[in-house]
Amino acid sequence: MAEATLLGIAQDGGRPQPSCQKPCCMDVKPDEVAYPTSLGLSMSDESNHLFDATRNLGEQLKIWGENNPKHVWLTHAHFGHVDGLGLFGRETIGAKDIKLHVSQKMAELIHATPQWSLMLDQGVFEIIPFKTGDIIQFGTESIEPIIVPHRDELSDMHAFIIRGENKSLLYLPDHDTWEETLSSYGCKLIREWFDKLEIDTAFIDGTFWSQHELSGRLQSEVPHPPVSQTIAHLGTRLPSDVEIHFIHLNHTNPLYDKSSSAFRTVESMGWKVAVQGMKIKL
Ligand SMILES: [Zn+2]
Ligand SMILES: [Zn+2]
Ligand SMILES: [Zn+2]
Repeated sequence: MAEATLLGIAQDGGRPQPSCQKPCCMDVKPDEVAYPTSLGLSMSDESNHLFDATRNLGEQLKIWGENNPKHVWLTHAHFGHVDGLGLFGRETIGAKDIKLHVSQKMAELIHATPQWSLMLDQGVFEIIPFKTGDIIQFGTESIEPIIVPHRDELSDMHAFIIRGENKSLLYLPDHDTWEETLSSYGCKLIREWFDKLEIDTAFIDGTFWSQHELSGRLQSEVPHPPVSQTIAHLGTRLPSDVEIHFIHLNHTNPLYDKSSSAFRTVESMGWKVAVQGMKIKL
C-alpha cells in the first residue's frame, strides 16, 4: 500500500515568514512552525518520491522518516518549491542519479540555470520529462501530472494525482483561479472536476482565507482562490465528497489558528485544514 506524508503546509515563504513583524509571525511557537508545502510518497514497489524540494528538506526528510528519495517531482519553478534542489548536491547530500521528474518547460529552465545544470553534469539528477495526462506506473500504482493555470513567468505548473491500490490523491499546492482551472478541464463545478479526476482525497491550494488578506500588495500579483470562496462554492461536505485538506497557507492565513472563526467554519462544513506530518494510506 502506498503512503503519502505531508511534509509542509505553508506557502513558499514558510511560517514564520522572514522579516514579518506582525502578530502572525511574532509569536509562532516551535511546534507551530510550518515548512513550505511538500509531500513524501512511499509506494508499494518500495520506490520513494518527493514532491517539491524546499529549503527545509532536512527537517522534512525527518518528518517523513526517509533519507534517500530516489525520485523528485516538481510542480513548478516558484521559489518555495525548488529552493531545496541544491541540497541534493555535493555540498550537502552528495546524491547520485536521482530521477528528476519535470515538465518540458521546467527542464529547459533547469538546463538554463547554471547551478542546476552543473548538478546534471555531476550526475546528481537525471531529468525524466513528463507531459500532462501521462500515467507513470510504479508497480501497480501510478503518478499522473496534470497541467493547471498558474503564473508562468518561469515554468508551467502541474498538479499530481497519485493512484494507490485503494485510493487516489490530488496534490495541488498552487493555482490562480477556479474559473481558469475548471474551464481548462471543461468543467463548471469543483465537484464535477474532482469526479472527472477520480480522486478520493485532495491537498489543495489554501494560500489565503480571503481576498483582503494581503494589505499593501495587490492580490492580483499573487492570485490564488481564497479558501472562503472555495468552501462557498462547495457548500457543506456530503458523504460522497472528496476529502479536502487545505495546504500552502500564507503566514497571514487565520486557518493556522484553531480558535479562529475561519478555522471553525472550514471544519464545521466538513472540510479540513491540513496538518504537517499527516499520513494518508492509498
Ligand atoms: Zn507556492
Ligand atoms: Zn507573518
Ligand atoms: Zn506558485
